[in-house]
Amino acid sequence: MHQYTLAELSRLLHSKAINSVELTQHYLNRIKQYNTRLNCLITITEEEAMVQAKKADACIQQGKSMPLTGIPIIHKDIFCTQGIKTTCASKMLDNFIAPYDATVVSKLNIAGMVLLGKANMDEFAMGSSNENSFYGQVKNPWDETRVPGGSSGGSAAAVAARLTPSATGTDTGGSIRQPAALSGITGLKPTYGRVSRYGMIAYASSLDQGGPLATTAEDCAYLLQTMAGFDPYDSTSVEREVPDYLATLNNPLKGLRIGLVKEYFSEGLSAAMREAIYAVAKTLEKEGATLVDISLKRTALSMPAYYVIAPAECSSNLSRFDGVRYGYRCENPHDLNDLYARSRQEGFGEEVKRRILIGTYVLSAGYYDAYYLKAQQCRRLIHDDFQDAFKSVDVILSPTSPTTAFKLGEKTKDPISMYLSDQYTLAVNLAGLPGLSMPAGFIDNLPVGAQLIGNHFTEARLLNIAHRYQQLTNWHKQMPALAE
Ligand code: GLN
Repeated sequence: MHQYTLAELSRLLHSKAINSVELTQHYLNRIKQYNTRLNCLITITEEEAMVQAKKADACIQQGKSMPLTGIPIIHKDIFCTQGIKTTCASKMLDNFIAPYDATVVSKLNIAGMVLLGKANMDEFAMGSSNENSFYGQVKNPWDETRVPGGSSGGSAAAVAARLTPSATGTDTGGSIRQPAALSGITGLKPTYGRVSRYGMIAYASSLDQGGPLATTAEDCAYLLQTMAGFDPYDSTSVEREVPDYLATLNNPLKGLRIGLVKEYFSEGLSAAMREAIYAVAKTLEKEGATLVDISLKRTALSMPAYYVIAPAECSSNLSRFDGVRYGYRCENPHDLNDLYARSRQEGFGEEVKRRILIGTYVLSAGYYDAYYLKAQQCRRLIHDDFQDAFKSVDVILSPTSPTTAFKLGEKTKDPISMYLSDQYTLAVNLAGLPGLSMPAGFIDNLPVGAQLIGNHFTEARLLNIAHRYQQLTNWHKQMPALAE
């Protein structure tokens, strides 16, 4: 049962060939069998899942169901879930039970989805390997000595291992796309403002965006259809109609102009990765697309700009974790200052502290102009480069990450090399654009991800291209041995 896509499961549920209770039980069994090995989930919500599954079956019986009714999902543990532990993979929130649902969670609940549990992640979504979790590292199901990518590593590994047909993730600089790539699945980071951030624990508010992870683009379209839309509780969510993402999945690609960015295929990229991405371009060209060489001149500015802006925003967002209102509190503080300092020192992990320190530094009076303001100016130039590019192309094709999944522990001692694994994804967040990663081959038996970047609110086009590509290829159908 776990080898079906979400779209296939939806059809099977609605034709009553299967029911949600047995489907949910099947996935819960798989989670019990494999989670101790892979560590994808922090919390398993078995009881809640069975209640939701029964309710879903009743809806289907009464003919009141929607396409997602009865389908299991896991939420990244950054989304608040009412009455359920919501940790953001931090000791700081190890005891936190969310008093309300994030908008994304409540929308998917209303659609009838069944929550199997909360996914492991990098602490407060800071990382690219899922090694920064208070609950331990997640293993890549393709090779358990390797990382699944991050920060939505638990979500990606669980979908890849077929412990769930779908998951949510969040992407601040690549955290949906990069783990999707390293785990061999499909993930979409929507346009900034397309999906509500309400109830999504904030990392860097001007960059954060929630989105779907699944095995196919079609499945991501189903999920985005429900997740997207204006939310009065999120002042940056955009009041704009949500198109029918499923209706355009099969549109022809004739006339599509695909940009290949000179700077993305520079010397640093391995020949194998370059060939894999060019092969995607050739496949799309045969469908009637044209390939256009372009340049994004300010590419080299994305990394430094991101690693000023994201820490600056995180240092502000994370100031609320002070041991007073909720979350971890140190033992026997001797005064208020000690309470703040020790609660934060003991509650946050290494990487989170590093980011807070960088953030407070770049925002401090003497350095604000030199770092933060400059980074914001760079951000504008990066945005302008993309807008120039979109005058001559409809979409940009690139690797999602420069390498396939790396070894556990390989980059933990060298933050800069870790940061580089997001070098193709960061700029997309800085410019607020949508980006999708889809399986595009294998190098040494490890999945390769190709990234599609579009202009604002072109999710339908990205899903259409990825879906057509998946009609022509079998990469997305490959499964790690434990799912066979
Ligand atoms: N790896 C990047 C970081 O650590 C991106 C993380 C993300 O998208 N949440 O900030």
